[in-house]
Amino acid sequence: MSEMVSKGRFGRFGGRYVPETLMPALEELEIAYGEARGDPAYHEELAYYLREFVGRPTPLYLAERLSDDLGVLKVYLKREDLCHTGAHKINNTLAQVLLARRLGKTRIIAETGAGQHGVATATAAALFGLDCDIYMGEEDIGRQSLNVFRMRLLGARVIPVTSGSKTLKDATNETLRDWTASVRTTHYIIGSVVGPHPFPEMIRDCQSVIGREAREQILEAEGRLPDACVACVGGGSNSIGLFHPFVDDADVALIGVEAGGRGLDSEEHGASLTAGRVGVLHGCETFLLYDDDGQIIPAHSVSAGLDYPGVGPEHSHLKDSGRARYVTVEDHDALKAFQKLSVLEGIIPAFESAHAISYLDRMAEETREAGEMKTVVLCLSGRGDKDVHQAEGLLTEMLDDEEVR
Ligand SMILES: *Cc1c(COP(=O)(O)O)cnc(C)c1O
Repeated sequence: MSEMVSKGRFGRFGGRYVPETLMPALEELEIAYGEARGDPAYHEELAYYLREFVGRPTPLYLAERLSDDLGVLKVYLKREDLCHTGAHKINNTLAQVLLARRLGKTRIIAETGAGQHGVATATAAALFGLDCDIYMGEEDIGRQSLNVFRMRLLGARVIPVTSGSKTLKDATNETLRDWTASVRTTHYIIGSVVGPHPFPEMIRDCQSVIGREAREQILEAEGRLPDACVACVGGGSNSIGLFHPFVDDADVALIGVEAGGRGLDSEEHGASLTAGRVGVLHGCETFLLYDDDGQIIPAHSVSAGLDYPGVGPEHSHLKDSGRARYVTVEDHDALKAFQKLSVLEGIIPAFESAHAISYLDRMAEETREAGEMKTVVLCLSGRGDKDVHQAEGLLTEMLDDEEVR
């Protein structure tokens, strides 16, 4: 195996499948990140901004009414929804903006689909007065006007992408192209644990703050580790962030919940791990959704954040090795869970996080059948304010149905 594809492997997944012209940028980043990772000053600065700007540590909240409802599960919610900007994405963008400043870069670029990563990137860039260009498919720009406005309000430029399907996949290609030509001044912040080495590893480290805090908090609350960690999986960053500090604890089950969309048979879903095949996309080898001609199949989910046709290579390895398990939840059930958590806990979750919540019903059923009780840590990756408008249309009928209450 050449050096190009053997670097940054998770088992047989990952690597660095990029044109020669992109190699210098990736090598520079790998070295710079290696240095930052070993530098206490970097960690001190990051810890300061995570505390003072993001609002960390986020609480690990015992969801009592939800636990009562499930009966056999004691559920703790890791409240990433309480992070500044309303989700875990800021953990990554902030850490990387600090890295960019170390490198003397003055400009930040990123791709965005629904706009959540674009907003988190623009936020971190604004904090330090860095130039910020966000690539976004024209199709997505039309659908997500509020987030486009947020990015502009934060001082970023939103660049429309008109190639291909005019969505996230194409925006990612454009951002990589920009970076190839602009690396001297520019840092590229990928939005999840995907892309060529060192991105999946670096972003996992940024998000692992979720699992490190949760581990400490659950030990404090319960005096022992949880039986399971549960999180939704889009590209895989909030889930790997929760899982990673528990990987060596063999008794802790790791369960990732993918978007089942309209059902696996419908081909309208986002379940790359459950229903995909191994291939190469955006510089790394991993499970993907593609057809027999090798064409990427557009992912579908009611939640825009789970709508990615690939997944981080480390998850592919965790699945392959059997260390983690991946399940799916369909749109309809996620919507029910969206309402359920709102009613039971006074917490409106992001549609993405609602997938993880919904899986608890199935887990409770299995646990009951086995005659057990379990303690679960669930990553509540974001708050649902961004989804309320969409939910209003989708849920009105369901809310009239007493059965759901
Ligand atoms: C983007 C997003 C996700 C999915 O991304 P991951 O990289 O899989 O974490 C999940 N939840 C929320 C709230 C998001 O904004």
